Amino acid sequence: MSESSLRVVWVYPDLLSTYGDRGNALVVERRARQRHLNVTRIDVRSDQSVPTSGDIYLIGGGEDRPQRLAAERLRNDTGLVRAAENGAIILGVCAGFQILGHEFVNDLGQREPGLGLLDVWTTRGEGERCVGDVLADVDPQLGLPQLTGFENHQGVTHLGQGVKPLARVTAGRGNGTGDGTEGAWRDTVFGTYLHGPVLARNPAVADMLLKLALDVNALPPADTTWYDALRAERIAATTRPA
Ligand code: GLN
Repeated sequence: MSESSLRVVWVYPDLLSTYGDRGNALVVERRARQRHLNVTRIDVRSDQSVPTSGDIYLIGGGEDRPQRLAAERLRNDTGLVRAAENGAIILGVCAGFQILGHEFVNDLGQREPGLGLLDVWTTRGEGERCVGDVLADVDPQLGLPQLTGFENHQGVTHLGQGVKPLARVTAGRGNGTGDGTEGAWRDTVFGTYLHGPVLARNPAVADMLLKLALDVNALPPADTTWYDALRAERIAATTRPA
């Protein structure tokens, strides 16, 4: 991390920000400030270049066409790939997750290359879109509480040997492969299908990103009253019998 300030880069708010994914940037900032950390948020529109000096990069979800445009621009820009090579911390949500992988199917029905930062590839699901609330148990190696979120995607994401599933669903579809996996991760790069926004529903994930950025094992405690209320409400709604 740079000495003066933690740099949180929100990639392409103009193309990739569905279902309140902006909240992810707000929550990372807020969780940092709660620990009296100096934090700078850098919103990078798709006509701007992605800085390589960020600490945490956030990429949200998007409709199929903006997703293709975002992938094209990110491939040409190379800033995010170079940042990843330098060990940057990256969280991609839904379309952002798919773009981090090797390829996905674009709005023209063609295979569109991603950035190859996660060993995953996405096909178009033949069945109904995966839509609804999700609960998932996180990879125990990450030591995080149950994930809650909202998914809405047609893509089905397949995991290669170079990643681990981020979580296993207990409700909802996750990667859509039918094997119960949700998201993927390796080192400091994470992908998930969960909106909500995911960091508002799961502040422990925001804290994990901060810990990785600061290279610490623990952070000072910070109030989670509102997050806990949101989690309890959504978890109850997801587990309640129909
Ligand atoms: N367009 C992608 C899909 O449908 C991602 C959707 C999203 O980001 N919500 O699979």
